[in-house]
Amino acid sequence: MDVILKGKYIIKCKIKAVTGLHIGEGNNSIEIGGIDNAVVKDAEGKPYIPGSSLKGKMRSLMEFAEGKVKDDLMVVAVKKGDKPEICIHMCDDKECPVCGLFGRNHGKHVTKKEFLKDPKAEGRDFSDAVIPTRLIVRDAKLIESSITDEMKENLDLEWTEVKFENNIDRITSKANPRQSERVPAGAEFSAEFVVNRYEVDGSDDGEKYLSKFIKAMKLLEDDYLGGQGSRGNGKVKFVDIEIFYKDSSDYEKDSNDLKPIATAPSLDQL
Ligand SMILES: [Zn+2]
Repeated sequence: MDVILKGKYIIKCKIKAVTGLHIGEGNNSIEIGGIDNAVVKDAEGKPYIPGSSLKGKMRSLMEFAEGKVKDDLMVVAVKKGDKPEICIHMCDDKECPVCGLFGRNHGKHVTKKEFLKDPKAEGRDFSDAVIPTRLIVRDAKLIESSITDEMKENLDLEWTEVKFENNIDRITSKANPRQSERVPAGAEFSAEFVVNRYEVDGSDDGEKYLSKFIKAMKLLEDDYLGGQGSRGNGKVKFVDIEIFYKDSSDYEKDSNDLKPIATAPSLDQL
């Protein structure tokens, strides 16, 4: 397979938390004097949105929207004994928008359908179809000024609020109050995405994957990011969007005075 990089679409925007945002640290360890359900923070102690969280959520929304959530189109990513615990879509269709944008993993994979028949199935390799992942998602840093002094008056910690939620234990029916940290509604993060444009065996991607990426952004706006989405957390909006295009020849020039090919205050105006 011949793959040539034609150029890169660079999408810069802000991600606004329309409701409180909880992206957990991924472990539930209780720090001494800390809260037991903290949000992920950078080295300076400020909350941020990990690129991997954004990418994972967008991938999963696109799997549903593109009709890829089927037992023979999903592979088992994590298993628990004989049960498939986490499945993601992966296939060897060169035209697949999900695999083409979000990438495929190396190594052998067992489809969910094969696994349910035989949990010891060996699986197969999709490496014939491995094209470098087109989408790169950077970590989105908090824009400090988006948390105003007025907002800060209502915060429990420097950048975040801490809510108590009552979880009812289904067995004992006892209320189990639990603390949960959230980034407040109104906070904004600066985000950057790169969509690589390739020519694969003579066929130019054109804007195909850029369009698919914009679709994934729209799907995310109508879903939620992070935890406790069913309780109203995690509604986000992309604002102040700028899209740039760098042709591969632009990288040989001394200076890059790039002008955006599209700008819009929000996705519906793009
Ligand atoms: Zn696929």
